Amino acid sequence: MNLEAQLVEWLRANLPGGPLLEVPLGDDAAVLNPGTHSIVVTTDLLTEGVDFLLDQTSPQLVGHKALGVNLSDLAAMAARPTAAFVSLALPRTGGAGFSTLDLAIELYRGMLPLAHKHGVVIAGGDTNTWDGPLVVSITALGETTQRGPLTRTGAEVGDRLLVTGSLGGSILGRHLAVEPRVAEALLLHGQFTLHAGIDISDGLALDAWRLGEASGCGMVLDLDRIPVSVDAHELSQRDGRPAREHALADGEDFELLLAVPADAARQIVEQQPLDVPVTDIGEVIAERGLWQRSATGQKTPLQPQGWQHQAQA
Ligand SMILES: [Mg+2]
Repeated sequence: MNLEAQLVEWLRANLPGGPLLEVPLGDDAAVLNPGTHSIVVTTDLLTEGVDFLLDQTSPQLVGHKALGVNLSDLAAMAARPTAAFVSLALPRTGGAGFSTLDLAIELYRGMLPLAHKHGVVIAGGDTNTWDGPLVVSITALGETTQRGPLTRTGAEVGDRLLVTGSLGGSILGRHLAVEPRVAEALLLHGQFTLHAGIDISDGLALDAWRLGEASGCGMVLDLDRIPVSVDAHELSQRDGRPAREHALADGEDFELLLAVPADAARQIVEQQPLDVPVTDIGEVIAERGLWQRSATGQKTPLQPQGWQHQAQA
């Protein structure tokens, strides 16, 4: 039996189904029956050597991350995750001490607990082998709630900028052990008025700038209010860069950055309705661009620095 047949056999035995799946894994295509909601679709491609190093991490963590980053994008849209499609290009020689088949199964073993936690069915995908590195591509689907999708375009002048959790230094582990803020986004979107949102994948500064540009506004960050993670402080001790710079630019935090009307923002910060802290870190202004405001109130331009994929010239 070839690898794909063996893997599909394992998948049939190990992937839970669900009411969404009208025709499950194993046919030419999946058939989903989403009911009456809009469908939200996102996809993400992870490549060994670029997004992870297989000799320094476990394939389970890679699987977890590959699904986690997709769920984080669904969270940013305030969509409830429903299904995922997993495509693998596996090195013919396997990797991380596993045979090719076991490498694939390990990837799925990393995805399954996260899929279960968020009610996601893995509904299909494709599996190939080749002479290149491991490539994992996941497409995730979600459905909007009654309040519709949360987009990047709705920020208004006077909105407050709220962020979940704390930022910076994700390279010490959180960049792989992604905790997508799905429940948090759904709760906030359901109980409060949110104007716009984005997940912080490439760094607070860059993603705040993107949110502003998409909404046609400017963004001011109050630097002394930014929640700096323990990891950012740890990294700062090692490399001498200020911890706050790590919080601004490291990326892969996978926290939510939200533009929220001032009244609702005040309520959220007072009530703290999530398991993670929510912090007010700034304001939406009319003047385009990204700005920083010091403790003394002085406003100056801030570089939208962060992680961006480089193309070879
Ligand atoms: Mg995103």
